[in-house]
Amino acid sequence: MSTERLYYDDPTLLSFEARVVARRQSEGRPAVVLDRSAFYPTSGGQPHDTGTLRPLDEPARRVAVVDVLEQDGDVVHVLDGGLPGEAVRGQVDGQRRFDHMQQHTGQHILSQVCSERYQAETVSFHLGADYCSIDLDRSNLTAEDVVAIEERANAIIFEDRPVRARFVQEHELAHMPLRKPPLGYDRVRIVEVEGLDWSPCGGTHCARTGQVGHIRLIQLERRGKESRLSFLCGWRALRDARWKHDLLRELAGRFTVGLPDLPDAVARLAEAEETARKGLERARQDLLHYEAQERYAQAERVGPARLVSAVLNERSLDELRLLAREIAALPGGVALLGLGGETARLCFVRHEDLSGDMGALVRQAAAVLGGRGGGRPQEAQGGGPDAGRLEEALEEALAGLRDLLTKDG
Ligand SMILES: [Zn+2]
Repeated sequence: MSTERLYYDDPTLLSFEARVVARRQSEGRPAVVLDRSAFYPTSGGQPHDTGTLRPLDEPARRVAVVDVLEQDGDVVHVLDGGLPGEAVRGQVDGQRRFDHMQQHTGQHILSQVCSERYQAETVSFHLGADYCSIDLDRSNLTAEDVVAIEERANAIIFEDRPVRARFVQEHELAHMPLRKPPLGYDRVRIVEVEGLDWSPCGGTHCARTGQVGHIRLIQLERRGKESRLSFLCGWRALRDARWKHDLLRELAGRFTVGLPDLPDAVARLAEAEETARKGLERARQDLLHYEAQERYAQAERVGPARLVSAVLNERSLDELRLLAREIAALPGGVALLGLGGETARLCFVRHEDLSGDMGALVRQAAAVLGGRGGGRPQEAQGGGPDAGRLEEALEEALAGLRDLLTKDG
């Protein structure tokens, strides 16, 4: 015997009495089958209801219904605790139910408008916690089409047409303009939006289109040969419009402009930021240039070479490299720079007219730090974890370089 579905006849019925006819387990949680239920089980793109069950002879005890499943015609109520007794009172969460009614009824209207206007048929429906969507079997809808669909769907909502659900026999189906005729059933539930849409559906719907409130199409995405149209109905559409409007007003307030001037204000900010960034970059380059000249002026002289060796902290590796290159660009300049920190970094650069392999030099120094390094004869980098030996590594490199330059000279 399958569960009598009370929501078929009256989706506004939220409180009911029933008898427990079977007890089960669902993923470690207790679950019950009732002889009749107003709880909607997850199916047809619509998520399940939530609410409570209470034993009639122990009304203070309330057990939450956390999931509702459909199994072989039974409605299975998954509970967050044990439910004693046979006779129970069920209470469906009305806000969640009404939200699903608004989204689902909006979907019927939307799907039929897409079909009527653009021969775009709905291949699937998703009613999510945040937004709803339908997948359409066409990929060439435009932004203008979406506006036209939204206008038409809302016009139908504002006309406040009746929405009726009833079971019909298979032979009656032939006289109905169904978008997707069902096959192989002798008794089918048809949901009719008066004068617009007849759909086989087991879900919960509003009694009139006006209850949907309004529908907002929020995104059109191409997905191969299909497109996904995301939408919000009723309370969801209202709350979405509210937070977006509040956000825009807050942003406009920060810029002290009106909403229409917000895009220009943002563009001006981006431009100012870009100008400031470029200015800062130039100033940084200038500073490095002067620092290079200063260090070069105080450098140790070995023949034609000017040796600059220094440990720098709280600088970026990028700055270290730029400074080394600035020094090595000056006549006879050689920079052996180290960067302290959790791991030590090395950057060795020499002037192009000098001889000596910076790659070999950096490899030896990096070995002192317990790491590795390498590069070209003129410029090389390395590093290692033993940052405490950075001074020592640079001293060794400097001594090696002096030998090299003296031999050559
Ligand atoms: Zn439906």
